[in-house]
Amino acid sequence: MMPVRREIRIRGTVQGVGFRPFVFNCAKEFGLSGFIANTPHGVEIQVQGRETEIDGFVKKIRVCPPPASRIEEIAVKEIETVEESGFFIRPSIDGSADTFVSPDIGTCKACFEEISNPHSRRYAYAFTNCTSCGPRFSMIEAVPYDRKNTTMSGFEMCGKCREEYENVEDRRFHAEPVACADCGPELEFVAGSEVYSDALKAFKDFVSRGKTVAVKGLGGYHLACDAFNENAVSRLRARKHRFDKPFAVMVKTVEQAEKLCVIDDTEKKLLQSPARPIVLLRKREDCAVAPSVAPQNNRLGVMLAYTPLHYLLMDGFDALVMTSANLSDEPTVFADEDALRLESVADAFLRHNRRICRRVDDSVCAVVNGKVRIIRRARGYAPEPLYIGAGKGDLLACGAQQKNTFCLLRNGYAFVSGHMGDLDEESAEKSYKKEIESFKNLFSAKPELAVCDMHPDYVSARFAFASGFPVKQIQHHKAHFISVLAEHSVLDEDVLGFIFDGTGLGEDMKIWGGEMFLGSARSCKRVGHLREFHLAGAQAAINEPWRCAVAVAEQAEKGSAVRLFDKAEIILRSIEAGINSPETSSMGRLFDAVCAIAGVCTEVTYEGQAAILLEQIADESAEGEYRFDICEEKSQLIFDWRNLVRRAVEDRLSGVGAGVISMRFHRAVINLITQCADIVYRKYNIKKIALSGGCFQNFILLENAENILTRNGFEVYSNERIPVNDGGISFGQAAAAVYSE
Ligand code: ZN
Ligand code: ZN
Ligand code: FE
Repeated sequence: MMPVRREIRIRGTVQGVGFRPFVFNCAKEFGLSGFIANTPHGVEIQVQGRETEIDGFVKKIRVCPPPASRIEEIAVKEIETVEESGFFIRPSIDGSADTFVSPDIGTCKACFEEISNPHSRRYAYAFTNCTSCGPRFSMIEAVPYDRKNTTMSGFEMCGKCREEYENVEDRRFHAEPVACADCGPELEFVAGSEVYSDALKAFKDFVSRGKTVAVKGLGGYHLACDAFNENAVSRLRARKHRFDKPFAVMVKTVEQAEKLCVIDDTEKKLLQSPARPIVLLRKREDCAVAPSVAPQNNRLGVMLAYTPLHYLLMDGFDALVMTSANLSDEPTVFADEDALRLESVADAFLRHNRRICRRVDDSVCAVVNGKVRIIRRARGYAPEPLYIGAGKGDLLACGAQQKNTFCLLRNGYAFVSGHMGDLDEESAEKSYKKEIESFKNLFSAKPELAVCDMHPDYVSARFAFASGFPVKQIQHHKAHFISVLAEHSVLDEDVLGFIFDGTGLGEDMKIWGGEMFLGSARSCKRVGHLREFHLAGAQAAINEPWRCAVAVAEQAEKGSAVRLFDKAEIILRSIEAGINSPETSSMGRLFDAVCAIAGVCTEVTYEGQAAILLEQIADESAEGEYRFDICEEKSQLIFDWRNLVRRAVEDRLSGVGAGVISMRFHRAVINLITQCADIVYRKYNIKKIALSGGCFQNFILLENAENILTRNGFEVYSNERIPVNDGGISFGQAAAAVYSE
């Protein structure tokens, strides 16, 4: 049979993830000649040989590429055969860089085995890595991805490491961060003025004695303590001024995780995936972690050790609290010079001398209805782009105020930044601006447009207006809606969207958050919303859910607010006088109100806490449900909660348990969605439904809404690869700007 030659172009995350050695080995396996090279767009391969062998080769690349790679597109083309023998890895083909920078990759099995093997030269070496694993985004300062452009540039490879690096058959071929104890970064353990020579041993000693150690890891510092020691954990909480928000724990193996939580196969795969995110798992009844780790929560955030350092630290511990090292709400510390500020929360420091180039927080995921949902997108995921579609120039979408991310659009690819945090913090604002500059350089983007929220006081919006680019504003909840459509490439049909959220400025200058949209990514309009109520005290109402409860209870039935809350009178008077009490249609705040009415909590220490508590206590075996009345007003469907709130107040006053009230309320919200979907279907024949906004982090709500809608014949879409909360706003803004007419 005559040989044939094919050119294969692959687009996606295929550089810095072990792709070239993998293809090299495939070519050998199928007996093909030719070459592979990195190009500005991905990789280019040419192979020559028998047609069936080439087909097998392409199939293998398609079906089982290296775990950390992500193939967006494979284009195969027939070309003229040439005279040649052997398969080669050719030097990179340069050009304007629009390659993808790989996210950091969790340590692979081979590397873990190596550091556990006393006969290996990398035994217990904390910075072991290879072509398929190790630091990437957290150490890259410029493109192309070469050692000289990373924070490893100061370490000169020893002879043995260089040999591995240059040998195409070695699994460290072109592993840019390659290192060993002779030539690479080193650990250091310091407590007060004392430096300990054996850092790993010192860590074990300190943590076993209930101390907290600040650990410099991959993309920042963690605070680590023994997850089973209640004294240690509660002391850490007090020192960190973090009173309620759950801590994540780290374990070494899936078996250890299973001792704490009930884990299904999808969750297992997710825990072990190259991204190694924190996964919110269901606690086992006999879960033995200290109560203060995740108080009043049925779930526990668990991650597997994702670097050799973490793996070594876990020695002798079943689980460690590993919480981002910061002071209250500030961003996680990653720079050594800032780490000194952690002295008030940590008893000792475990550091190393590989500089962290940028903060990369741990990602947070959950599995709902068998699908992975990224709740905080950072390590392991950012800056992997999502394809939106070309057609417009480069742009910068500036994101929201809380849980901020920004999004740089370049050649149709949306590069969403890692989690930047709440921009209220000055230090967060600073790193926001710095990271935008860094993204522009890494992805050689030249934005011609800035996209931002309508809220003029958002730091991100002010940044957009100060950028000098023309500015396009996208309403907050429309950005949530379009984020779902763009993520699933549902572009040409009309979709009904339920955006249930905290708060965001609406087109009528009221505060929205319980919205229904109809339309497409090109154009959509509000067709329904929650009946408005007064946000008594504006920002204060977010910290004190009972204020929302007073407002809705009184509107539901005069005189009922004072029966529930002693201080209701003051709130009612300020609402009546119109003092600092903007109107809102926020579903998140209605959750808060019901939480306070149920007597679960009246004040919170972080946004969304009341809604989370309400979900945690929901008694799924409880009977009954409340109901929204759905009425039409000025061609809007109004979700009227007055009867619902009246019944919740009655239940509370007659001693019905909070778990029952919670469940009845959850059912009301789920039914609201399914009923509205039916109404709109009958009128417009719309079968596609989008769900987004922070409220859909609620497992009961998302799981049931999706299931019932699907059973009723609807096609349901929600965010998966980008967060359903405000971390997804920047992506939605970028997509809205690209698609809008
Ligand atoms: Zn490895
Ligand atoms: Zn070395
Ligand atoms: Fe939002």
